[in-house]
Amino acid sequence: MRNPPALEQLVEALRCLPGVGPKSALRMAYYLLQRDRKGAGLLAQSLDQALQVVSHCGLCNNFSEQEVCPLCTSPARDHSLLCIVEMPSDLMMLEQTQSYNGMYFVLMGRLSPLDGIGPRDIHLDKLLKRAQDGEVEEVILATNYTVEGEATAHYVSELLRARGLKVSRIARGLPMGGEIEHVDSGTLAQAMLERRNVR
Ligand SMILES: [Zn+2]
Repeated sequence: MRNPPALEQLVEALRCLPGVGPKSALRMAYYLLQRDRKGAGLLAQSLDQALQVVSHCGLCNNFSEQEVCPLCTSPARDHSLLCIVEMPSDLMMLEQTQSYNGMYFVLMGRLSPLDGIGPRDIHLDKLLKRAQDGEVEEVILATNYTVEGEATAHYVSELLRARGLKVSRIARGLPMGGEIEHVDSGTLAQAMLERRNVR
């Protein structure tokens, strides 16, 4: 006995989520159709809406509904500083510390050769263009202090320094293996203040 085709299709679609195998996809589908049809409707609607209107900011690469996001156009920010983070959640964490008033570039990932994630996948062409806009004077690497975050910082700093840009790395107030997302904002603010030049 098989499930109806539309249900099978839903299960298959749910498997695009990270870490979701056939069994959990089936559980989710049952849950949505049986226990929370209203929530399921809202999910479908929100997903459709987000896909239509959310794209990436042309400058910082963060998610945005505008071509250039409000942070990138803000005259109140220091346009001579460009901070590179892995994910939008890292940007939000740094904003919460209120210790940084410059600009950002969001890689939307980190170099990870084992997972097949290379330079092209973390938008380095876009970053190089952004960093050489003539206004940026210092690039601050705020990738995670994990093996992959460190490798990414190293790779990116080589690229930027080869183009004559001043590069610094947030200080290791962060624990080894530390992910920015999970660090308290006091520690993160300190790491930003104590950033060091990359030589
Ligand atoms: Zn932006």
